[in-house]
Amino acid sequence: MPELPEVETFKRYLDSTSLRQRITNVDVRDAYVLKRVSARQLARRLKGRRFENSHRHGKHLFVRAGDELWLRLHFGMTGWLQYLKRNEEPPKTARVLFSFANNRRLAFDDQRKFGEIELIEGVDEFVQTRSLGSDALEISLSQFKAIVGKHCGAVKAILLNQQLIAGIGNLYADEILFRTRMHPATDAARLSDKDLTRLFHATRYVLEKAIALKTDFKRLPKSWLLTHRGKGAKCPRCGSGLKSATIGGRTAWFCPHCQKRTSRS
Ligand SMILES: [Zn+2]
Repeated sequence: MPELPEVETFKRYLDSTSLRQRITNVDVRDAYVLKRVSARQLARRLKGRRFENSHRHGKHLFVRAGDELWLRLHFGMTGWLQYLKRNEEPPKTARVLFSFANNRRLAFDDQRKFGEIELIEGVDEFVQTRSLGSDALEISLSQFKAIVGKHCGAVKAILLNQQLIAGIGNLYADEILFRTRMHPATDAARLSDKDLTRLFHATRYVLEKAIALKTDFKRLPKSWLLTHRGKGAKCPRCGSGLKSATIGGRTAWFCPHCQKRTSRS
């Protein structure tokens, strides 16, 4: 499921391929992903305009197409972008195709259709309406401490809560906690100041490293949990068998030896 690093990678891809070209057509092949806009409206409002710039907040990508006109993309479980060559067949699961004057097309591909495409007037307004927290890469150390340290509940559930901090999903939350050797069910309110600082730096490190590697799982460090998680897997640090548990409604993978529940939690 695309999390902050994946969406940032899509943003950079879109920026390097699809900006400043006149949009000649919008072909909606499956309107299921459209939210609060019809296929006709989407095409009518975008045709003749250009994607000017983009902005990411958490797992949402916003593409500016004019005054008070932004395209919002959310990638759900399986969404991604592909800039097609001339006459290149779009993937079978392409849901929306944006055609440009240079005969190239940008495909919003989404096999499982949990993705979302919407037109909105402004990014700030959207972030407020959804009560999204600060972006996980924009948040300062003091903000991070204030948010995480003041909430009771499993630290993993706090990291996943988009209303507190936006952008972290299941896989990267597990990675961040593995790096800090914290059990995912540790009560956030009982973390020390030092723990919170370590958690903050691990969050930045993991997200930035994943972006730098364009979220290519094959290139992620072998010392990461991400490249091992799953049934029968061993901890890359100590070799113990990894465990899973449902925390915050999601399956957490962790090492029961490296990430012990301390008496503080
Ligand atoms: Zn271990």
